[in-house]
Amino acid sequence: MSDIFTGSFTQQEPIPEEGVKAALKVMRSGRLHRYNLAPDEPGETSLLEREFAAWTGAKYALAVASGGYALATALRAVGVEPGEPVLTNAFTLAPVPGAIASVGATPVFVGVTEALTIDLDELEAKAGQARVLLLSHMRGHIADMDRLLQICRAAGVTVIEDCAHTMGATWRGRLSGRDGLIGCYSTQTYKHMNSGEGGFLITDDDEVMARATILSGSYMLYGRNGTRPPEQAFERVKYVTPNVSGRMDHLRAAILRPQLARIDAQCAAWNARYAVVEEGLRGAPGLTIVERPEAERFVGSSIQFLLLDWSDAAINDVLARCAKRGVELKWFGGAEPVGFTSRYDSWRYAPAAPMPATDRVLRGILDMRLPLTFTLEDCALIARIIRAEVGAVWQAGQG
Ligand SMILES: *Cc1c(COP(=O)(O)O)cnc(C)c1O
Repeated sequence: MSDIFTGSFTQQEPIPEEGVKAALKVMRSGRLHRYNLAPDEPGETSLLEREFAAWTGAKYALAVASGGYALATALRAVGVEPGEPVLTNAFTLAPVPGAIASVGATPVFVGVTEALTIDLDELEAKAGQARVLLLSHMRGHIADMDRLLQICRAAGVTVIEDCAHTMGATWRGRLSGRDGLIGCYSTQTYKHMNSGEGGFLITDDDEVMARATILSGSYMLYGRNGTRPPEQAFERVKYVTPNVSGRMDHLRAAILRPQLARIDAQCAAWNARYAVVEEGLRGAPGLTIVERPEAERFVGSSIQFLLLDWSDAAINDVLARCAKRGVELKWFGGAEPVGFTSRYDSWRYAPAAPMPATDRVLRGILDMRLPLTFTLEDCALIARIIRAEVGAVWQAGQG
């Protein structure tokens, strides 16, 4: 059997037709800036903010220019200062430590478990070192949020959630992004909604939202935002909060609104694909499935499996064999950053002591996107290819 997969791992679905129409209308109006509004016109960006807040159940939502911008704004809004240590995941993507570095603060990495979530024992041990945890639900894996919140509450640590991969996911029924003081999301092309670039920040806190709004570049036009805290909150912060422009524009908002309207169905479609791949890989010798806790309702927009304690040569062999058959796997164990994938020790601007238990897990993580342009049959074929190639290398005794 040597089927080849010919689909593209980076091809997303087209923008829904209503979004295209709404975008054309914005372009024809010439009013693209979020505060360029006709009298009584709420504008696409404010409408999107109201809809996103309603969907998440948050009091406030702020639409911004990127997920990374939302993270940095969240850190600024809670007053993180230059030189301050900020706890974060060792297993995440570069924009997370990048957001911390962008405010002059210093990432303090917390390791990853075989469940691909933040190591809560290590978090507990390090919690005294920082005021803030920038928690990345990396690749959609949600840690035991009950215990995590308990640890952070006990240590007086404020939680900011990076939900770039968990838009629509829940822990014990609570939407990801609602457990922390602030939840941040990305609407960059490879996330759960696609506006090319874009993001959101949500919170229930008046003062945080007032700061974030001014930070985002509202000038004194914040009265036109979709969701906004009372005027007194702005009065307290508006003279002392810098403008660090990173607004969303109407064009992006216009293409996001119809996507938000169907996000729940999209999440179900991802999970159907995930289930097919997971099922196809289950029981493959040498391969460890990442079992998902019952309390977690994840969104399977990507899938990870582990080749734990395999040699680098054997893993490279699997990658090459799969690539030859059209299946693009990413490896978090690679010594050098490749594409979107990098390791905590590739971010050399941040101090990082060696983390042997984390290194062992990272060395074993294989990662694959599941764009919705894949059919369920595509997913079954991909799983067969991975299973066969992992099996071939394992049987040759290289694993
Ligand atoms: C994509 C991503 C971000 C940031 O999103 P951008 O919109 O690209 O800035 C943050 N965290 C993680 C884990 C991501 O994958």
